[in-house]
Amino acid sequence: MRIHHLDCTTMCPLGGPLVDAPGSLLTRGRMVCHCLLIETPSSGLVLVDTGFGLDDMRDPVGRAGRAFVALTAPKMDPAQAAISQVRALGFSPSDVRHILLTHMDLDHAGGLADFPSARVHVMQDELDEALDPKSFGSRGRYKSAQWAHGPSWCTHKPSAGERWFGFECVRALEGLPEEILMVPLSGHSRGHAAIAVQSGGLWHLHCGDAYFHHGELETAYRCPTGLKVFQRIVAYDDALRRANQGRLRDLVSAHGREARVFCAHDPTELSRAIDA
Ligand SMILES: [Zn+2]
Repeated sequence: MRIHHLDCTTMCPLGGPLVDAPGSLLTRGRMVCHCLLIETPSSGLVLVDTGFGLDDMRDPVGRAGRAFVALTAPKMDPAQAAISQVRALGFSPSDVRHILLTHMDLDHAGGLADFPSARVHVMQDELDEALDPKSFGSRGRYKSAQWAHGPSWCTHKPSAGERWFGFECVRALEGLPEEILMVPLSGHSRGHAAIAVQSGGLWHLHCGDAYFHHGELETAYRCPTGLKVFQRIVAYDDALRRANQGRLRDLVSAHGREARVFCAHDPTELSRAIDA
């Protein structure tokens, strides 16, 4: 299976030195929305996360909210939208038959409406929270307009599945090759998951927002202050988030040659993945 690594929305968060860039607090840093487009032998194209979609790009403040736009300054360039990149690679949007979401935050689920006939796989807990947000934090992070078209959901409960490199309840997904797995990884959001894809003799693990900076998975943990604080503030369950981040660190340390691990927003990891 061939994997394309795409940046589906570049964001420029305020406080560059707290995120990734040198300079003053008024400097803006850079974050990507790292999505995967997977060519499968018999299940068409599979998209992992979607970034923002064309509707979000036409009306960023209306769709994402004034505070989010002011803080992260997403570029909202329609050429970066997943649907445009699918077309640029010579495919039709209808070739995307499955979308796998690490979670349903606005910067991950925005492109759903650009692929209205795709089946959308997500953890049941995540869908429950997004459709009926119980807390102030959840009401801010999920945008129901992004799924107002009524996607065909395919949900997964963390109560069943196999063990995979120390992670539990990992499962193959209905209608997809067994080399594509959903790995429950809660904490950042209620039903957050990672997506594992086996290709070229290696596992590629898209960890969504389970961490934000490549230094967080190094043996000597390091993370810019702004990202560290941000992750704590937005976590649905911070203790669980930190525990799962520790399991990812163990995975890299014990099996780094068998598994390439990356998150959704780190531009360094995206460059490494594209160059590999
Ligand atoms: Zn995100």
